[in-house]
Amino acid sequence: MGIRLYNSLTLQLEEFVPSENNTVRMYTCGPTVYSYAHIGNLRTFTFNDILRRWLRARNFVLHDVMNITDVEDKIIRNSMAKGVPMGEYTTQYEKAFIEDCARMRFLPPWRLVRATEHIPEMVAMIETLQAKGLTYETEGSVYYRIGKFPEYGKLSHNDFGGIRAGARVDVDEYDKDDARDFVLWKSRKENEPYWDTPFGKGRPGWHIECSAMATKYLGNTLDIHAGGIDLMFPHHENEIAQSEGCSGQPFARFWLHCEHLLVDSSKMSKSVGNIYTLRELLEMGYAPEAVRYLLASVPYRKKLNFSLDGLKAAATAIDRLRNFALRLDTDKHPEGVNAALEERAAKSLADFDAGMDDDLNTAEALAAVYEYVRETNSAMDAGGFHAGNVESARRVLARFDEVFEVLKTAVAEGGMSDAEIDALVAERSQAKKSKNFSRSDEIRAQLLEMGVVLEDTKDGARWKRKS
Ligand code: AMP
Ligand code: ZN
Repeated sequence: MGIRLYNSLTLQLEEFVPSENNTVRMYTCGPTVYSYAHIGNLRTFTFNDILRRWLRARNFVLHDVMNITDVEDKIIRNSMAKGVPMGEYTTQYEKAFIEDCARMRFLPPWRLVRATEHIPEMVAMIETLQAKGLTYETEGSVYYRIGKFPEYGKLSHNDFGGIRAGARVDVDEYDKDDARDFVLWKSRKENEPYWDTPFGKGRPGWHIECSAMATKYLGNTLDIHAGGIDLMFPHHENEIAQSEGCSGQPFARFWLHCEHLLVDSSKMSKSVGNIYTLRELLEMGYAPEAVRYLLASVPYRKKLNFSLDGLKAAATAIDRLRNFALRLDTDKHPEGVNAALEERAAKSLADFDAGMDDDLNTAEALAAVYEYVRETNSAMDAGGFHAGNVESARRVLARFDEVFEVLKTAVAEGGMSDAEIDALVAERSQAKKSKNFSRSDEIRAQLLEMGVVLEDTKDGARWKRKS
Protein backbone atom coordinates (compact mmCIF):
# COMPACT_ATOMS: atom_id res chain seq x y z
CA MET A 1 0.00 0.00 0.00
CA GLY A 2 1.19 3.48 -0.79
CA ILE A 3 0.76 6.83 0.93
CA ARG A 4 -2.62 7.59 2.47
CA LEU A 5 -3.52 11.23 3.12
CA TYR A 6 -6.52 12.78 4.82
CA ASN A 7 -8.41 14.83 2.27
CA SER A 8 -10.33 17.75 3.83
CA LEU A 9 -12.55 17.85 0.73
CA THR A 10 -13.88 14.29 1.12
CA LEU A 11 -13.27 14.00 4.88
CA GLN A 12 -11.55 10.70 4.18
CA LEU A 13 -8.19 9.02 4.28
CA GLU A 14 -7.39 8.34 0.62
CA GLU A 15 -4.62 6.58 -1.19
CA PHE A 16 -2.50 9.25 -2.86
CA VAL A 17 -1.24 8.96 -6.42
CA PRO A 18 -0.59 11.89 -8.76
CA SER A 19 -3.01 12.27 -11.64
CA GLU A 20 -0.27 12.09 -14.27
CA ASN A 21 2.95 10.09 -14.32
CA ASN A 22 5.11 10.36 -11.28
CA THR A 23 4.98 14.11 -10.78
CA VAL A 24 3.13 15.68 -7.86
CA ARG A 25 1.81 19.12 -8.70
CA MET A 26 1.24 20.88 -5.44
CA TYR A 27 0.60 24.37 -4.12
CA THR A 28 1.05 25.72 -0.61
CA CYS A 29 -0.11 29.10 0.63
CA GLY A 30 3.01 30.96 1.67
CA PRO A 31 3.59 33.80 4.12
CA THR A 32 2.25 37.32 4.11
CA VAL A 33 5.47 39.26 4.47
CA TYR A 34 4.42 42.08 6.79
CA SER A 35 6.43 40.90 9.82
CA TYR A 36 8.65 38.00 10.94
CA ALA A 37 7.06 34.57 10.74
CA HIS A 38 6.22 33.08 14.14
CA ILE A 39 6.73 29.43 14.94
CA GLY A 40 2.98 28.81 14.48
CA ASN A 41 3.46 29.74 10.84
CA LEU A 42 6.56 27.57 10.85
CA ARG A 43 4.56 24.61 12.09
CA THR A 44 2.50 24.72 8.90
CA PHE A 45 5.64 25.09 6.79
CA THR A 46 7.34 22.26 8.69
CA PHE A 47 4.35 20.04 7.87
CA ASN A 48 4.70 21.12 4.26
CA ASP A 49 8.38 20.17 4.32
CA ILE A 50 7.73 16.77 5.90
CA LEU A 51 5.05 16.08 3.28
CA ARG A 52 7.38 16.98 0.44
CA ARG A 53 10.26 14.97 1.88
CA TRP A 54 8.05 11.94 2.28
CA LEU A 55 6.71 12.21 -1.27
CA ARG A 56 10.32 12.41 -2.42
CA ALA A 57 11.30 9.44 -0.27
CA ARG A 58 8.49 7.53 -2.02
CA ASN A 59 10.09 8.41 -5.37
CA PHE A 60 7.71 11.07 -6.61
CA VAL A 61 8.98 14.10 -8.50
CA LEU A 62 7.83 17.38 -6.98
CA HIS A 63 6.50 20.37 -8.79
CA ASP A 64 5.65 22.39 -5.72
CA VAL A 65 4.84 26.06 -5.69
CA MET A 66 4.74 28.44 -2.74
CA ASN A 67 3.63 32.03 -2.99
CA ILE A 68 4.83 35.12 -1.18
CA THR A 69 1.92 37.46 -0.46
CA ASP A 70 3.62 40.82 -0.89
CA VAL A 71 0.56 43.04 -1.40
CA GLU A 72 -2.21 42.97 1.20
CA ASP A 73 -4.05 45.21 3.68
CA LYS A 74 -1.67 44.79 6.64
CA ILE A 75 1.38 45.25 4.41
CA ILE A 76 -0.02 48.48 2.99
CA ARG A 77 -1.05 49.75 6.40
CA ASN A 78 2.34 49.01 8.01
CA SER A 79 4.48 50.27 5.14
CA MET A 80 2.47 53.50 4.94
CA ALA A 81 2.76 53.98 8.69
CA LYS A 82 6.53 53.58 8.39
CA GLY A 83 6.68 55.80 5.31
CA VAL A 84 8.55 53.17 3.26
CA PRO A 85 7.60 51.99 -0.23
CA MET A 86 5.69 48.70 -0.12
CA GLY A 87 8.37 46.80 -2.07
CA GLU A 88 11.12 47.90 0.28
CA TYR A 89 8.99 46.98 3.29
CA THR A 90 8.19 43.46 2.05
CA THR A 91 11.71 42.68 0.80
CA GLN A 92 13.18 42.72 4.31
CA TYR A 93 10.56 40.27 5.62
CA GLU A 94 10.75 38.05 2.57
CA LYS A 95 14.51 37.84 3.10
CA ALA A 96 13.97 37.04 6.78
CA PHE A 97 11.47 34.33 5.84
CA ILE A 98 13.89 32.69 3.41
CA GLU A 99 16.60 32.76 6.10
CA ASP A 100 14.21 31.14 8.58
CA CYS A 101 13.34 28.44 6.03
CA ALA A 102 17.03 27.69 5.52
CA ARG A 103 17.62 27.43 9.28
CA MET A 104 14.60 25.16 9.55
CA ARG A 105 16.13 23.05 6.75
CA PHE A 106 13.05 23.27 4.51
CA LEU A 107 13.60 22.06 0.97
CA PRO A 108 13.42 25.08 -1.31
CA PRO A 109 10.21 24.84 -3.37
CA TRP A 110 10.33 24.17 -7.11
CA ARG A 111 8.91 27.70 -7.57
CA LEU A 112 8.69 30.49 -4.96
CA VAL A 113 6.54 33.20 -6.53
CA ARG A 114 5.59 36.75 -5.59
CA ALA A 115 2.05 38.05 -5.92
CA THR A 116 3.16 41.45 -7.23
CA GLU A 117 4.86 39.75 -10.18
CA HIS A 118 1.62 38.08 -11.32
CA ILE A 119 -0.83 40.97 -11.61
CA PRO A 120 -1.54 40.36 -15.36
CA GLU A 121 -2.46 36.71 -14.61
CA MET A 122 -4.83 37.86 -11.84
CA VAL A 123 -6.42 40.46 -14.12
CA ALA A 124 -6.92 37.84 -16.85
CA MET A 125 -8.61 35.51 -14.38
CA ILE A 126 -10.93 38.25 -13.14
CA GLU A 127 -11.81 39.05 -16.76
CA THR A 128 -12.75 35.42 -17.36
CA LEU A 129 -14.95 35.46 -14.25
CA GLN A 130 -16.55 38.69 -15.50
CA ALA A 131 -17.22 37.17 -18.92
CA LYS A 132 -18.93 34.23 -17.21
CA GLY A 133 -21.22 36.54 -15.29
CA LEU A 134 -19.80 35.57 -11.89
CA THR A 135 -18.86 39.09 -10.76
CA TYR A 136 -20.26 42.55 -10.15
CA GLU A 137 -18.71 45.96 -9.58
CA THR A 138 -19.33 48.45 -6.81
CA GLU A 139 -17.51 51.75 -6.62
CA GLY A 140 -14.61 50.57 -8.73
CA SER A 141 -14.10 47.26 -6.86
CA VAL A 142 -14.91 43.88 -8.42
CA TYR A 143 -16.66 41.19 -6.35
CA TYR A 144 -17.32 37.50 -6.79
CA ARG A 145 -21.07 36.81 -6.76
CA ILE A 146 -21.15 33.61 -4.71
CA GLY A 147 -24.87 33.10 -5.37
CA LYS A 148 -23.76 32.01 -8.87
CA PHE A 149 -21.42 29.29 -7.56
CA PRO A 150 -23.67 26.62 -6.03
CA GLU A 151 -20.82 24.46 -4.78
CA TYR A 152 -19.58 27.16 -2.41
CA GLY A 153 -18.92 25.61 1.02
CA LYS A 154 -17.97 22.14 -0.22
CA LEU A 155 -14.47 22.24 1.28
CA SER A 156 -15.27 23.68 4.69
CA HIS A 157 -18.57 21.76 4.71
CA ASN A 158 -20.32 24.94 5.69
CA ASP A 159 -24.05 25.21 5.29
CA PHE A 160 -24.78 28.76 4.27
CA GLY A 161 -28.56 28.38 4.52
CA GLY A 162 -28.64 30.76 7.47
CA ILE A 163 -26.88 33.60 5.72
CA ARG A 164 -29.31 35.89 3.91
CA ALA A 165 -28.35 37.20 0.52
CA GLY A 166 -28.16 40.97 0.79
CA ALA A 167 -27.12 40.92 4.44
CA ARG A 168 -24.01 42.94 5.07
CA VAL A 169 -22.48 41.19 8.03
CA ASP A 170 -18.89 41.61 6.99
CA VAL A 171 -16.68 44.23 8.57
CA ASP A 172 -14.85 44.76 5.30
CA GLU A 173 -15.00 48.40 4.36
CA TYR A 174 -15.87 47.47 0.78
CA ASP A 175 -19.53 47.12 -0.17
CA LYS A 176 -20.95 43.81 -1.26
CA ASP A 177 -24.34 42.27 -1.94
CA ASP A 178 -24.05 39.01 -0.02
CA ALA A 179 -22.07 38.25 3.13
CA ARG A 180 -20.26 35.44 1.30
CA ASP A 181 -19.18 37.59 -1.64
CA PHE A 182 -15.56 38.58 -1.61
CA VAL A 183 -13.44 41.12 -3.36
CA LEU A 184 -11.39 40.16 -6.41
CA TRP A 185 -10.09 43.63 -7.16
CA LYS A 186 -10.02 46.56 -4.75
CA SER A 187 -10.40 50.08 -6.09
CA ARG A 188 -7.57 52.44 -5.35
CA LYS A 189 -7.58 54.43 -2.13
CA GLU A 190 -5.57 57.59 -1.79
CA ASN A 191 -1.81 57.08 -1.47
CA GLU A 192 -2.08 53.32 -1.78
CA PRO A 193 -0.01 51.39 -4.32
CA TYR A 194 -2.05 50.48 -7.41
CA TRP A 195 -2.03 48.91 -10.85
CA ASP A 196 -3.88 50.18 -13.93
CA THR A 197 -6.35 47.63 -15.29
CA PRO A 198 -9.40 47.49 -17.58
CA PHE A 199 -11.56 47.73 -14.44
CA GLY A 200 -9.73 50.75 -13.12
CA LYS A 201 -6.85 51.55 -10.83
CA GLY A 202 -6.49 49.31 -7.81
CA ARG A 203 -4.92 46.19 -6.37
CA PRO A 204 -5.79 42.50 -6.14
CA GLY A 205 -7.72 40.85 -3.33
CA TRP A 206 -5.77 38.22 -1.43
CA HIS A 207 -7.65 35.14 -2.68
CA ILE A 208 -7.14 35.76 -6.41
CA GLU A 209 -3.36 35.72 -5.92
CA CYS A 210 -3.25 32.03 -5.09
CA SER A 211 -5.70 30.96 -7.81
CA ALA A 212 -3.78 32.84 -10.50
CA MET A 213 -0.32 31.64 -9.47
CA ALA A 214 -1.35 28.02 -8.86
CA THR A 215 -2.99 27.81 -12.29
CA LYS A 216 -0.10 29.46 -14.09
CA TYR A 217 2.51 27.00 -12.84
CA LEU A 218 0.49 23.85 -12.23
CA GLY A 219 -2.51 23.88 -14.59
CA ASN A 220 -6.23 23.77 -13.79
CA THR A 221 -6.21 20.75 -11.47
CA LEU A 222 -3.57 20.34 -8.76
CA ASP A 223 -2.75 17.05 -7.08
CA ILE A 224 -2.39 18.68 -3.65
CA HIS A 225 -3.26 22.04 -2.17
CA ALA A 226 -1.95 22.59 1.36
CA GLY A 227 -2.05 25.25 4.06
CA GLY A 228 -2.89 25.98 7.68
CA ILE A 229 -6.34 24.99 8.97
CA ASP A 230 -7.40 28.63 9.41
CA LEU A 231 -7.10 29.09 5.63
CA MET A 232 -9.76 26.51 4.83
CA PHE A 233 -12.50 29.09 5.18
CA PRO A 234 -12.83 31.51 3.56
CA HIS A 235 -9.49 31.57 1.73
CA HIS A 236 -9.44 28.09 0.21
CA GLU A 237 -13.18 28.08 -0.36
CA ASN A 238 -12.73 31.31 -2.31
CA GLU A 239 -9.80 29.89 -4.26
CA ILE A 240 -12.09 27.03 -5.34
CA ALA A 241 -14.85 29.44 -6.39
CA GLN A 242 -12.38 31.45 -8.48
CA SER A 243 -10.46 28.59 -10.08
CA GLU A 244 -13.43 26.32 -10.74
CA GLY A 245 -15.51 29.30 -11.80
CA CYS A 246 -12.88 30.00 -14.47
CA SER A 247 -11.94 26.52 -15.66
CA GLY A 248 -15.03 24.44 -14.91
CA GLN A 249 -12.67 21.74 -13.61
CA PRO A 250 -11.86 20.57 -10.08
CA PHE A 251 -9.17 22.86 -8.61
CA ALA A 252 -7.37 20.39 -6.33
CA ARG A 253 -7.75 16.63 -5.86
CA PHE A 254 -6.38 16.62 -2.30
CA TRP A 255 -6.74 19.41 0.25
CA LEU A 256 -4.42 19.08 3.25
CA HIS A 257 -4.66 21.28 6.34
CA CYS A 258 -2.24 21.56 9.23
CA GLU A 259 -3.64 22.09 12.73
CA HIS A 260 -2.60 24.99 14.88
CA LEU A 261 0.30 25.50 17.18
CA LEU A 262 -1.20 26.59 20.51
CA VAL A 263 0.12 28.40 23.55
CA ASP A 264 -1.82 27.74 26.75
CA SER A 265 -4.67 26.33 24.66
CA SER A 266 -5.09 29.30 22.34
CA LYS A 267 -3.80 29.68 18.81
CA MET A 268 -0.37 31.27 18.51
CA SER A 269 -1.05 34.43 16.54
CA LYS A 270 0.19 37.94 16.08
CA SER A 271 -3.16 39.40 17.06
CA VAL A 272 -3.19 37.58 20.44
CA GLY A 273 0.45 38.52 20.97
CA ASN A 274 1.48 35.09 22.28
CA ILE A 275 4.09 34.50 19.63
CA TYR A 276 7.67 33.35 19.48
CA THR A 277 9.72 33.94 16.37
CA LEU A 278 12.50 31.57 15.40
CA ARG A 279 15.01 34.36 15.95
CA GLU A 280 13.86 34.85 19.53
CA LEU A 281 14.29 31.17 20.29
CA LEU A 282 17.73 31.09 18.70
CA GLU A 283 18.77 34.09 20.77
CA MET A 284 17.62 32.21 23.86
CA GLY A 285 20.12 29.50 22.90
CA TYR A 286 17.86 26.89 21.30
CA ALA A 287 19.00 25.19 18.10
CA PRO A 288 16.81 25.43 15.00
CA GLU A 289 16.91 21.62 14.79
CA ALA A 290 15.16 21.46 18.18
CA VAL A 291 12.38 23.72 16.89
CA ARG A 292 12.09 21.65 13.74
CA TYR A 293 11.97 18.40 15.70
CA LEU A 294 9.33 19.70 18.09
CA LEU A 295 7.08 20.97 15.30
CA ALA A 296 7.52 17.78 13.27
CA SER A 297 7.07 15.31 16.11
CA VAL A 298 3.31 15.76 16.54
CA PRO A 299 1.21 14.54 13.58
CA TYR A 300 0.01 17.51 11.56
CA ARG A 301 -3.72 17.01 12.15
CA LYS A 302 -3.31 17.18 15.94
CA LYS A 303 -3.08 20.41 17.83
CA LEU A 304 0.33 21.02 19.36
CA ASN A 305 0.78 22.97 22.56
CA PHE A 306 4.06 24.88 22.53
CA SER A 307 6.24 25.19 25.63
CA LEU A 308 9.90 25.80 26.31
CA ASP A 309 9.97 22.50 28.22
CA GLY A 310 8.78 20.78 25.06
CA LEU A 311 11.57 22.47 23.17
CA LYS A 312 14.15 21.31 25.73
CA ALA A 313 12.81 17.76 25.45
CA ALA A 314 13.19 18.00 21.67
CA ALA A 315 16.84 19.04 22.06
CA THR A 316 17.43 16.08 24.41
CA ALA A 317 15.80 13.70 21.93
CA ILE A 318 18.11 14.90 19.17
CA ASP A 319 21.12 14.51 21.46
CA ARG A 320 20.15 10.94 22.21
CA LEU A 321 20.04 10.10 18.51
CA ARG A 322 23.29 11.92 17.80
CA ASN A 323 24.98 10.05 20.63
CA PHE A 324 23.76 6.80 19.17
CA ALA A 325 25.16 7.78 15.76
CA LEU A 326 28.46 8.66 17.44
CA ARG A 327 28.63 5.29 19.20
CA LEU A 328 28.11 3.54 15.87
CA ASP A 329 31.12 5.34 14.49
CA THR A 330 33.47 5.30 17.44
CA ASP A 331 32.76 2.31 19.72
CA LYS A 332 34.83 -0.79 19.01
CA HIS A 333 32.24 -3.38 18.01
CA PRO A 334 33.16 -7.07 18.09
CA GLU A 335 33.48 -8.76 14.67
CA GLY A 336 30.57 -10.66 13.17
CA VAL A 337 26.88 -9.91 12.94
CA ASN A 338 23.96 -10.39 15.30
CA ALA A 339 21.15 -11.72 13.11
CA ALA A 340 18.41 -10.75 15.58
CA LEU A 341 19.55 -7.13 15.46
CA GLU A 342 19.49 -7.17 11.67
CA GLU A 343 15.87 -8.24 11.84
CA ARG A 344 15.22 -5.59 14.45
CA ALA A 345 16.60 -2.91 12.12
CA ALA A 346 14.48 -4.16 9.22
CA LYS A 347 11.39 -4.02 11.41
CA SER A 348 12.22 -0.49 12.55
CA LEU A 349 12.54 0.63 8.92
CA ALA A 350 9.26 -1.02 7.93
CA ASP A 351 7.44 0.50 10.92
CA PHE A 352 8.89 3.93 10.19
CA ASP A 353 7.68 3.77 6.58
CA ALA A 354 4.27 2.47 7.62
CA GLY A 355 3.88 5.36 10.07
CA MET A 356 4.77 7.95 7.47
CA ASP A 357 2.53 6.34 4.84
CA ASP A 358 -0.33 6.59 7.32
CA ASP A 359 -1.13 10.26 6.73
CA LEU A 360 2.39 11.30 7.84
CA ASN A 361 2.05 9.89 11.33
CA THR A 362 5.37 11.24 12.56
CA ALA A 363 4.71 10.11 16.14
CA GLU A 364 4.48 6.47 15.03
CA ALA A 365 7.50 6.85 12.79
CA LEU A 366 9.52 8.30 15.69
CA ALA A 367 8.43 5.54 18.03
CA ALA A 368 9.75 2.98 15.52
CA VAL A 369 13.17 4.65 15.62
CA TYR A 370 13.28 5.12 19.39
CA GLU A 371 12.38 1.56 20.25
CA TYR A 372 15.12 0.37 17.94
CA VAL A 373 17.71 2.80 19.34
CA ARG A 374 16.87 1.87 22.93
CA GLU A 375 17.17 -1.84 22.30
CA THR A 376 20.31 -1.46 20.22
CA ASN A 377 21.99 0.75 22.82
CA SER A 378 21.34 -1.96 25.42
CA ALA A 379 22.73 -4.58 23.05
CA MET A 380 25.87 -2.44 22.64
CA ASP A 381 26.27 -2.15 26.39
CA ALA A 382 25.99 -5.91 26.70
CA GLY A 383 28.47 -6.56 23.87
CA GLY A 384 25.74 -8.04 21.62
CA PHE A 385 26.07 -5.46 18.87
CA HIS A 386 28.60 -6.43 16.21
CA ALA A 387 30.55 -4.64 13.50
CA GLY A 388 28.25 -6.29 10.94
CA ASN A 389 25.24 -4.52 12.48
CA VAL A 390 26.59 -1.01 11.95
CA GLU A 391 25.37 -0.65 8.41
CA SER A 392 21.73 -1.50 9.10
CA ALA A 393 21.79 0.85 12.12
CA ARG A 394 23.04 3.61 9.87
CA ARG A 395 20.22 2.86 7.43
CA VAL A 396 17.63 3.34 10.18
CA LEU A 397 19.12 6.72 11.12
CA ALA A 398 19.42 7.76 7.48
CA ARG A 399 15.76 6.98 6.77
CA PHE A 400 14.75 8.94 9.86
CA ASP A 401 16.87 11.91 8.85
CA GLU A 402 15.65 11.91 5.25
CA VAL A 403 12.39 13.17 6.76
CA PHE A 404 13.28 14.76 10.09
CA GLU A 405 16.61 16.26 9.02
CA VAL A 406 17.95 17.07 12.48
CA LEU A 407 21.00 14.85 12.93
CA LYS A 408 23.57 16.78 10.97
CA THR A 409 25.01 19.64 12.96
CA ALA A 410 25.05 23.02 11.31
CA VAL A 411 28.42 24.66 10.82
CA ALA A 412 27.91 28.03 12.45
CA GLU A 413 29.23 31.09 10.71
CA GLY A 414 32.98 31.18 11.32
CA GLY A 415 32.64 27.69 12.84
CA MET A 416 34.78 24.64 12.15
CA SER A 417 34.02 21.91 9.67
CA ASP A 418 34.01 18.27 10.77
CA ALA A 419 37.35 17.73 9.02
CA GLU A 420 38.95 20.64 10.89
CA ILE A 421 37.69 19.28 14.18
CA ASP A 422 38.97 15.79 13.32
CA ALA A 423 42.41 17.28 12.62
CA LEU A 424 42.50 19.11 15.96
CA VAL A 425 41.34 16.03 17.85
CA ALA A 426 44.10 13.98 16.18
CA GLU A 427 46.66 16.64 17.07
CA ARG A 428 45.48 16.57 20.68
CA SER A 429 45.82 12.78 20.85
CA GLN A 430 49.34 13.11 19.52
CA ALA A 431 50.12 15.86 22.06
CA LYS A 432 48.83 13.65 24.88
CA LYS A 433 50.90 10.71 23.70
CA SER A 434 54.03 12.84 23.79
CA LYS A 435 52.95 14.18 27.21
CA ASN A 436 52.55 17.73 25.92
CA PHE A 437 49.59 18.31 28.23
CA SER A 438 49.56 22.08 27.93
CA ARG A 439 48.96 21.73 24.17
CA SER A 440 46.30 19.05 24.62
CA ASP A 441 44.46 21.18 27.20
CA GLU A 442 44.72 24.18 24.91
CA ILE A 443 43.09 22.23 22.09
CA ARG A 444 40.33 20.97 24.36
CA ALA A 445 39.58 24.56 25.43
CA GLN A 446 39.66 25.80 21.85
CA LEU A 447 37.19 23.12 20.77
CA LEU A 448 34.90 23.85 23.70
CA GLU A 449 34.82 27.47 22.74
CA MET A 450 33.63 26.42 19.28
CA GLY A 451 30.86 24.35 20.88
CA VAL A 452 32.60 21.01 20.45
CA VAL A 453 32.71 18.62 23.42
CA LEU A 454 35.45 16.01 23.72
CA GLU A 455 35.03 12.72 25.42
CA ASP A 456 37.92 10.34 26.14
CA THR A 457 36.92 6.70 25.90
CA LYS A 458 38.86 3.47 26.02
CA ASP A 459 38.71 3.47 22.21
CA GLY A 460 40.20 6.96 21.95
CA ALA A 461 38.81 10.49 21.93
CA ARG A 462 35.49 11.28 20.28
CA TRP A 463 33.71 14.55 19.86
CA LYS A 464 30.28 16.04 19.32
CA ARG A 465 28.81 19.45 18.86
CA LYS A 466 26.66 20.84 21.65
CA SER A 467 23.03 21.16 20.50
P1 AMP B 1 0.26 34.10 7.13
O1 AMP B 1 1.68 34.57 6.96
O2 AMP B 1 -0.45 34.79 8.24
O3 AMP B 1 -0.52 34.16 5.82
O4 AMP B 1 0.31 32.57 7.57
C1 AMP B 1 1.16 31.63 6.97
C2 AMP B 1 0.71 30.21 7.31
O5 AMP B 1 0.78 29.98 8.72
C3 AMP B 1 -0.75 29.93 6.93
O6 AMP B 1 -0.79 28.65 6.29
C4 AMP B 1 -1.48 29.87 8.26
O7 AMP B 1 -2.58 29.03 8.21
C5 AMP B 1 -0.40 29.31 9.16
N1 AMP B 1 -0.60 29.60 10.60
C6 AMP B 1 -0.86 30.78 11.21
N2 AMP B 1 -0.93 30.65 12.55
C7 AMP B 1 -0.68 29.33 12.82
C8 AMP B 1 -0.59 28.53 14.03
N3 AMP B 1 -0.74 29.07 15.24
N4 AMP B 1 -0.32 27.21 13.89
C9 AMP B 1 -0.14 26.66 12.68
N5 AMP B 1 -0.20 27.34 11.51
C10 AMP B 1 -0.47 28.66 11.57
ZN1 ZN C 1 -3.62 30.73 -0.72
